[in-house]
Amino acid sequence: MTDSSPLKYLEDYYLSPDGKMIFTESYHLKRGYCCGSGCLHCPYDGIEVQEGRSSSTESRVQCPFCHESFSIPVFKEEGAEQSFIYDCEICCSPIRIQVTFTAEEQPEISTDRS
Ligand SMILES: [Zn+2]
Repeated sequence: MTDSSPLKYLEDYYLSPDGKMIFTESYHLKRGYCCGSGCLHCPYDGIEVQEGRSSSTESRVQCPFCHESFSIPVFKEEGAEQSFIYDCEICCSPIRIQVTFTAEEQPEISTDRS
């Protein structure tokens, strides 16, 4: 008998409202490294593990729920226009974040209540 389902729902991942699998922080810690793809709950924030592959930009966002601001990593490789849900680091509300990169490759961020 082997453990055929190493991923445990809610412990290792959960599903976002649009059906995406979102890995939890404990899953990342168990795995022990950063995949560099900007996971929502990556505990290896700010560490460039995979050098040269992903260039993330820290961008300030303001939470539309609690109006606190904090910074999130934005990855250019993810596309010129991105839309994703990010849990507020202060009040944990799900924020819909839209990122558009300008011609100067600067990210423009807009937030909305998801
Ligand atoms: Zn908030």
